[in-house]
Amino acid sequence: MRVTACRALSRMLWGRYLLTTGLQCCRWRVSCHVKRHYSFLPDDVKSLKAVVNPDISKIRNIGIMAHIDAGKTTTTERMLYYSGYTRALGDVDDGDTVTDFMAQERERGITIQSAAVTFDWKTHRINLIDTPGHVDFTLEVERSLRVLDGAVAVFDASAGVEAQTVTVWRQAEKHHVPCVCFLNKMDKPAANLSFSIESIKQKLKANPVLLQIPVGSGKRFSGVVDLLTNQKLTWNQTSTRDDGQTFESKALDQSDEPELLREVGEARAALIEQVADLDDEFAELLLTDFGDDFDAVSSVKLQEAVRRVTLARKGVPVLCGSSLRNKGVQPLLDAITAYLPAPNERHHDLVRWYEGDLCALAFKVLHDKQRGPLVFLRIYSGTLKPQTAVYNINRNSVERMSRLLVPFADQHVEIQSMTAGNIALTVGLKQTVTGDTIVSSKASAAAAARRARDGGGAVAEYASVVLSGVEVPEPVFFCTIEPPTMAKQADLENALQCLQREDPSLKVRVDPDSGQTILCGMGELHIEIVHDRIRREYGIETHLGPLQVAYRESILLSAAATDTLDRTVGERRHVATVELRVAPLDGAAAGASCELAFAENLETQLSPDMKRAVENGVHSSYHQGPLLGYPLQGVATLIQSVHMEPGTSAAMVSACVSRCMLKALRLARGQVLEPVMSLEVTVGEELLGSVLGDLAQRRGTVRDIQSRHDDKVLLATVPLAEMRDYSTILRTLTSGNATFSLELDTYEVMNQQDQSTLLRRMSGLL
Ligand code: GDP
Ligand code: MG
Repeated sequence: MRVTACRALSRMLWGRYLLTTGLQCCRWRVSCHVKRHYSFLPDDVKSLKAVVNPDISKIRNIGIMAHIDAGKTTTTERMLYYSGYTRALGDVDDGDTVTDFMAQERERGITIQSAAVTFDWKTHRINLIDTPGHVDFTLEVERSLRVLDGAVAVFDASAGVEAQTVTVWRQAEKHHVPCVCFLNKMDKPAANLSFSIESIKQKLKANPVLLQIPVGSGKRFSGVVDLLTNQKLTWNQTSTRDDGQTFESKALDQSDEPELLREVGEARAALIEQVADLDDEFAELLLTDFGDDFDAVSSVKLQEAVRRVTLARKGVPVLCGSSLRNKGVQPLLDAITAYLPAPNERHHDLVRWYEGDLCALAFKVLHDKQRGPLVFLRIYSGTLKPQTAVYNINRNSVERMSRLLVPFADQHVEIQSMTAGNIALTVGLKQTVTGDTIVSSKASAAAAARRARDGGGAVAEYASVVLSGVEVPEPVFFCTIEPPTMAKQADLENALQCLQREDPSLKVRVDPDSGQTILCGMGELHIEIVHDRIRREYGIETHLGPLQVAYRESILLSAAATDTLDRTVGERRHVATVELRVAPLDGAAAGASCELAFAENLETQLSPDMKRAVENGVHSSYHQGPLLGYPLQGVATLIQSVHMEPGTSAAMVSACVSRCMLKALRLARGQVLEPVMSLEVTVGEELLGSVLGDLAQRRGTVRDIQSRHDDKVLLATVPLAEMRDYSTILRTLTSGNATFSLELDTYEVMNQQDQSTLLRRMSGLL
């Protein structure tokens, strides 16, 4: 007896010993991993603190945008390294980069969440937001573009402009963000400068201004010639471990290859002519001071002109390099500071109504286990200080900010104040949601609104003095999500609430019929990541139902219906009669919203309460179409008459209207609209046939097939419903030798045959 007790005790102790050492090992490994990048922090933090609020003209708020795999993360890592903020070069292929700090990002090698990073380059402060490349996360990109002053577009020089870049570029244009292009991967044998330049012209409709000529090509790519200064920058790497920190800079002279000299001469002349065409001031200077002698053109004047051209978005400077081989990144950093705008060079009209009072936009919310929600703010005007109360205009609430931090990937440095133009990270704002405007007080918002009214001009636009947030696209996929036990339901709800505050493109709703929680997202990967985060960060193992496509519904015909509801509830009798008409609107598939109108005499006849009751009845039927219960679009409703006996409640009138709507909609021949995606597949010519064959089985329509070196680029549209698991299938078909991108194009009317198959499947008959 005693022996067994002893054994049990020793087993228990041994077990606990194993457990603790195991945990320690775990912790030790994590801290080692972090240390590799951050061990220097204590010293450098001091210098960072010393220049914590640099002169606004020295600040650059920059984003990097690119197609997936173009090299954003690799380039960012090099920037951090050369600026002195990291001591070791991270490598995306090893999964230890600074900016991809979420566990899933490291595992998947992609950037999901924009992480803000602050670092200094020479005399400038650079706040860099690493934007994600995957199409499921375009909202993240859009959100960060909203707060940036300039962007660097990174391209794979062997592929030129790829699909996702076009999308992001369009977004940057919408926000008037000046850009610089970086042609990365110049070390690849297939890298092609003129092809890439041409694709920037053709696909982005932009005006590339080439500032560098590459030296050597493919494996022998060794540096660039700066066309402004005629300096040749060479990275003479002796080993592959060379970090590219040092490089040689020398003026081009007759000892250089004649071919290179000729090329540089031509490119420089073309540059000068191009800039003179785009900038009148430079054209005049050229005429008066330099005549035809292009060699005499001062590099300073040329640089100033290129800057004006960039800021006016008349042209985009183009540089080249190879981040992975550590070449060309320092000149890119120089270009960021030289050509992209400081915050005070951008027009944020609204800022002037605040006259130096605090005005900031919350552009990102992260949840930190210990510190609670962390809110990233872009300060447009005024100064932010910790331990103060601020006013959130959107929530109409006063909140207290406890701490102010400078974001450094997942490390944060505490500071005492932060001025306009900067990006700050705040602790303590518990109610703030992405897209909210933060000011110092309600009175200050009111004063700004008054100034805006008195200031005339765009009164309507600025009357509310709220910074416009970010447009959230409609989710296209959804699925049910269930906690492991009912006891975990509350935890799951909390987790989903936190995740939604971070990511407005994630929608959560409860199915009114089944009571199940429904998760709606932008794509398969998006939902998968949310699922994963709930497990990792909140410790809840949830079960996801099958992924479903978010269809829409519309109608084909006009139809009229009448309905009478006669119901006695308790002592009270409710009687209402409604007559209405529904009709399809033009452009139903293209996303036309639904409309509602009342017959002329009704407007005056109905009391405001009853009018609202009728509107509620109509809108609730717009949310649930007659065929499959998906939201309707492109339907117009005319309420022709409403009669009710005295004592009939508003709720009963709403119910009567909904029932009548359903009747009319059923008569009007329901029509399912399905999301159709635009698909771009890049694949070797020999595999094109099998990709096309597969696409035909997915109801795909081929729009174009283009050539890119030895590859074919297939452009097509395909219904989203047919694209499940496409990445796996494409990988199998091509042994991993194809890449694709998928993006919502439009909603389209389904043909009758496909629609009836879908209806039968949904009702369980298939
Ligand atoms: P991101 O998806 O745009 O962030 O791209 P990553 O930085 O994750 O890089 C994608 C892949 O391209 C990785 O395998 C990198 O090693 C590789 N890569 C990045 N830069 C270069 C480069 O300059 N040359 C070559 N050959 N490969 C590169
Ligand atoms: Mg990345």
